Amino acid sequence: MQGWLITGEADAHQGRILQRVLFATLAGGSAHTIVCWIAAQLDFFRGGGDAFMALFAWIWSGHLVLIGLTLLGFNRLFRDPALTLPLLWWSTAVLLVSAWHVDHVRLCVMLLFFAILQMGVFRCRSRELVLLGVVCVLAYLGIVLSLWQMYPEAMDLTGELIQWSTFALMTVAMIILSDEISAIRIKLRERNHELGQIVERIQSLAIRDELTGLYNRRYAMERLGKIREMAERGAFGVVVAYADLDHFKQINDRHGHSLGDEVLREFARQASSQLSGRDFCARFGGEEFLLVLVKTDAPRAREVLEQVRQTLAHTRFEQAPGLRVTVSIGMAACHAGEPLEDWLARADAALYQAKGLGRNRLVAGEGDE
Ligand code: GH3
Ligand code: MG
Ligand code: MG
Repeated sequence: MQGWLITGEADAHQGRILQRVLFATLAGGSAHTIVCWIAAQLDFFRGGGDAFMALFAWIWSGHLVLIGLTLLGFNRLFRDPALTLPLLWWSTAVLLVSAWHVDHVRLCVMLLFFAILQMGVFRCRSRELVLLGVVCVLAYLGIVLSLWQMYPEAMDLTGELIQWSTFALMTVAMIILSDEISAIRIKLRERNHELGQIVERIQSLAIRDELTGLYNRRYAMERLGKIREMAERGAFGVVVAYADLDHFKQINDRHGHSLGDEVLREFARQASSQLSGRDFCARFGGEEFLLVLVKTDAPRAREVLEQVRQTLAHTRFEQAPGLRVTVSIGMAACHAGEPLEDWLARADAALYQAKGLGRNRLVAGEGDE
């Protein structure tokens, strides 16, 4: 039910936020109420039981409004849906209002501020906590001085100021500590980000060929196995093609290994861009590639693969203007019930035939001519 008004649905994150708001308002609010109630029983609450009841009726109405708004999901409209800062300011405000009413044991009430600060240590920026601390310390001083002006005989100003100084010092110490925790938190976040990037890189290395960025052989075979299963279940066609660059060894020998690498990258770019989004191209090793065309049949795959072959044949390389690179391709459409090895063997045999027929050509496997 949490958050239905804003998003129409509940989720685990909103559930955790609701728990937090409930804990902060119910547990924090109860501790605050009990401390002030004890003060009222000891006759330290100015105005007595009636003033206590009136003030805490207001305070608890506020708590319940906060809970209600979170239940309805209004917290999602805030940058921080956990409402940390609004909760801190609201709790500090009610603490200060009650401290105005409590005499002699004002510091006991104000000590609850450290529990409030603790709520923000892991979630707020240092300057947000510094601002809250400064406002609270100054407001506490303001309360002491105003009460002393209003009731000079009833106040032990020296005692109150000693209590206030202790509170101010403890607030400074707590804020320094929270600043250190905040620095550790930032460092941890950076480390996590770096670790995430490393994991991403390792995952990419595990499935991709470094030179071309295409899938590697192991991952391509894994993917092909899954596609074939899906194809059998979904009754759609899949075509595989082996592509092998022609006389590639000569290219390396005549123009150098780095140009050879550039040719491999260029072919990878061309093949990938001519396949549709659901198809994929992998580098099987050396100058051999596997192209997988999904939801298609032999005639349509033939058109795409012929385009791949012709594009490479017409490509000119700036570093070697006279260089002509060609590719031989053997394709095979998956036949129903055919084992994966037999299917790939037909594509391989077609490639072998393409090489034998003089290279720079596309040959379809047995049964797909
Ligand atoms: P064919 O037309 O019969 O396929 O002849 P080919 O020369 O292309 O075939 P061969 O298998 O004899 O040679 C493949 C060459 O590919 C040999 C190897 O040095 C080169 N090669 C393999 N991997 C790389 C690479 O990552 N970069 C470069 N530049 N060359 C590579
Ligand atoms: Mg080869
Ligand atoms: Mg070759």
